[in-house]
Amino acid sequence: MSTRTAVITGASSGIGAATARRLAAAGYRVVLTARREDRIQALAEELTAAGHDAVRHVLDVTDRAAVDAFAATLDTVDVLVNNAGGAIGAEAVATADPADWRTMYEVNVLGTLNVTQALLPRLVRAEGTIIVLSSTAGLATYEGGGGYVAAKHGAHVLAETLRLELCGKPVRVIEIAPGMVRTDEFALTRFRGDKDKAAAVYAGVPDPLTADDVADTIDWAVSRPPHVNIDLLVVRPRAQASNYKVHRKS
Ligand code: NDP
Repeated sequence: MSTRTAVITGASSGIGAATARRLAAAGYRVVLTARREDRIQALAEELTAAGHDAVRHVLDVTDRAAVDAFAATLDTVDVLVNNAGGAIGAEAVATADPADWRTMYEVNVLGTLNVTQALLPRLVRAEGTIIVLSSTAGLATYEGGGGYVAAKHGAHVLAETLRLELCGKPVRVIEIAPGMVRTDEFALTRFRGDKDKAAAVYAGVPDPLTADDVADTIDWAVSRPPHVNIDLLVVRPRAQASNYKVHRKS
């Protein structure tokens, strides 16, 4: 069987990097993309040294011309993991900066749209799989989450609509919606580098999900037989029953 190729956006940290490691171990040639070249270069070297097939391509998913140029460098694409994204700010709707909302919409929704559109012909040709990393924030809201929740609802709608529109074509659309995942950068980015606020997100929570837990669900969903489409997979830590209800040890 010829080598299958997986493109991962936001592979420079957290869930994206963990997914790249999982899919490389599963035998995929992984194409690592993100804005920070040093990070994806180091990961490509790590995976290559471990005997895997990994290349990297610097890419800002919000730059459509760059996305199209990237797509033109690729031959076959079997799996696309739309992981690039994140939250900026936790202000109430009344005081949030519209620029933050715009940035979140651009990366979480338009970034996913850009890369999916650019790679779609290749994915259909390969009988491939499109993963959309949304969030439980894409399914229900919470105070202070407005801009991120709106953007992730957008990603959720993109996945649902795309699945309807592609019905009958040989391609799967899978949405993975994680709850609380402790990664190095997600909360730090949200709180603009404030380490105390970032740490407070996970304070007292016994075992939040890890990036590898989410990567494991992606690997599992992708490795189902081609006729099996996991439409939406919600995964949370046991200590989190909803966006609101989180068990914390005092
Ligand atoms: P990280 O902050 O660790 O990773 C975000 C990744 O997105 C980075 O690799 C970053 O790379 C990349 N990225 C951001 N903006 C762009 C851009 N414009 N173009 C290309 N890449 C970009 O967060 P996580 O690993 O925790 O999150 C990964 C995904 O999972 C996100 O979509 C997030 O919203 C979602 N998620 C996270 C949860 C959590 O609790 N952590 C829960 C549910 C969903 P670079 O800066 O190098 O470009």
